[in-house]
Amino acid sequence: MLSEEQIEHIKQQLIRQVEENFPEDKKSLALEQIQEMNPEEVEDFLEKNNLNQDRIENEKCIFCSIVFNEIPSYKISENSEAIAVLEINPISKAHVLIIPKEHSSEIKKSEKNIASLIKSVKKQIEKKFSPKEVKVSYSQMFGHSIINLLPVYENETMNSKRKKAEKEELEELQKVLSTKTPSNSVKSRKPRTKIIKEKNLWLPRRIP
Ligand SMILES: [Zn+2]
Repeated sequence: MLSEEQIEHIKQQLIRQVEENFPEDKKSLALEQIQEMNPEEVEDFLEKNNLNQDRIENEKCIFCSIVFNEIPSYKISENSEAIAVLEINPISKAHVLIIPKEHSSEIKKSEKNIASLIKSVKKQIEKKFSPKEVKVSYSQMFGHSIINLLPVYENETMNSKRKKAEKEELEELQKVLSTKTPSNSVKSRKPRTKIIKEKNLWLPRRIP
C-alpha cells in the first residue's frame, strides 16, 4: 500500500511528465484523469503501465547524471551544449565520449557547439597521441545521443574489445587532454526524464 504522501508525489511526477511529453491536444484529458485517480487507481495505473514507484521517483539517465556532475567522470572539455569525458572502458587509448547536455535521442550533427567540441577534442587527441585516425561514431543509449571519438592506432573499430582503464591512467590522460574551459559553465537545468508517453498509456476509465 502506498501512503497518501506517496500517492500525491507520484501524481505530481505523472502530471509533470504529461505536461512535458504529451501532445497538446491530449494533455488536458490526461491531466484531469490523473488528478481524479484514487489511491487504488494510482496503484492500478503503475501496475498496468509497468511502472514502479522507484522508477518514477528515481529514474535518471546515466549520461544526464554525468552532465550534471551527479556521478564522477573524467571531464576533459566542455562548452554550453556538450561535455567531453574519457571513456572508462575504452577500446583504445584516449577514447573520448562527447555527451550533449540535452537529453535527446536526436543526433544533432549540425549543432554548432557540439560540432566544435568534437573538432577541438579530436584535434587534441591527434596532436597528443598521433593515432592513424580518430573515428567519430554517433549512437544513443537510454534515449541520450552520444558521440564516440575513437582513436585508431592499429585497426580498432567500435566493435573491438573494451578494457577497463585504471584510475591512474585516466587521470594522466585527463591531464594531457584537458583544455581550459570556464569552470562554472554547467547549466543548472534539470535533466528531463521521459518515462510515460501518450502512446499505449493506460488510464483508468472514467465513469460518465
Ligand atoms: Zn540523458
